[in-house]
Amino acid sequence: MSERLIYLDNNSTTPTDPRVVEAMLPYFYDVPGNAASRNHPFGWKAEEAVDYAREQVAKLIDVEAKEVIFTSGATESDNLALKGVFEMYQRKGNHIITLKTEHKAVLDSCQKIEKMGGQVTYLDVNNDGLVDLEKLEAAITDKTILVSVMWANNETGVIQPMKEIGEICARKGVLLMSDATQAVGKIEVHPKEVGVHIMAFSSHKMYGPKGIGALYVSRKNPRVKLTAQMDGGGHERGMRSGTLNVPGIVGFGKAAEIARLEMKSDAERLSALRDKLETGLLNNLEESVVNGNINHRMPHVTNISFKHVEGEGLMMTFNQNIAVSSGSACTSASLEPSYVLVALGLGDDLAHSSIRFSLGRFTTDDEIDYAIDAVTKGVNHMRDLSPIWEMYKEGIDLNSVIWQEH
Ligand SMILES: *Cc1c(COP(=O)(O)O)cnc(C)c1O
Repeated sequence: MSERLIYLDNNSTTPTDPRVVEAMLPYFYDVPGNAASRNHPFGWKAEEAVDYAREQVAKLIDVEAKEVIFTSGATESDNLALKGVFEMYQRKGNHIITLKTEHKAVLDSCQKIEKMGGQVTYLDVNNDGLVDLEKLEAAITDKTILVSVMWANNETGVIQPMKEIGEICARKGVLLMSDATQAVGKIEVHPKEVGVHIMAFSSHKMYGPKGIGALYVSRKNPRVKLTAQMDGGGHERGMRSGTLNVPGIVGFGKAAEIARLEMKSDAERLSALRDKLETGLLNNLEESVVNGNINHRMPHVTNISFKHVEGEGLMMTFNQNIAVSSGSACTSASLEPSYVLVALGLGDDLAHSSIRFSLGRFTTDDEIDYAIDAVTKGVNHMRDLSPIWEMYKEGIDLNSVIWQEH
């Protein structure tokens, strides 16, 4: 095998764009100040850099700079948004609505809120991964304070109808939050335009550095208030104390600016490559299906189940050369089938046979050719060894087989 390494796991994290690294470098040494030091030029320069980056991030999502709170990443932003809203508004109501397909940072925060006396509805999604708008509306009660729906799903790339959800929430007078980590910087995400009031996103999913993220918090119509989850020096308008990660913020700002200018051309190029990968694999390999709605989907993602093949084993046939993900990276330490795919109605076997390919800014045409070839060989190899595949080929109805317990 060649030494070749192909990275098709950009939904787990993206490489940092070299232009971003370049922008960050001075802030490690030449400009070492604390952005909260108001009494000397080192502090002023750091604060200036943070202000500029805040503008860059705000411009990407078309909000006011003051509405951007820097955090350590989307996990923290999700925690701050959900727990912060719950604590601030719990006297008004204690009910939150979210989806079963949300990221763990949202689902686990919601579980914590239940322990704190909150009530959470975890809505099913349709088989294509989209929210059922009628079910969502019907779930809202006079106790509901917040609806939380992710903009785009990390495992399938499915994009939710945020505008329609925003209309429902506006009509019912409840706050709408979105984990937009997988969408910001890749497709147009303008929370104000669609009625999203709070929005979490992260730098390292859009070619910025790791360990820095943001929360958009609407300042008017409505003015959202959050109970801080981190107490201290009162940074970030009191919502998130802690010395600002100046180099990280500068990098995040630069990444946001590049994304704003290049996202359209990136998306066009990547959707063509994604389609090539997808059709290549589906044409080469019978009994393969794409998971999630293909008409409302991120341009760089495809999630495919190769029936009668176990995804983890399949990955081992090529993971010296190609990085992909089976299920989500956050749960791949356990052998549970992906809860997201299970929520789409896939049985355990289909969920276990799925692979997520997520392309990125640095993916090349040549790499896609290589991946089609390697994955095709891998699936064929696994199926050649599989008694289940043999039975399937012989026309035995696999549902009629009584499996031995072990
Ligand atoms: C990656 C991711 C997160 C977590 O972001 P971090 O910045 O790594 O904490 C949250 N939500 C979604 C949808 C993600 O893809």
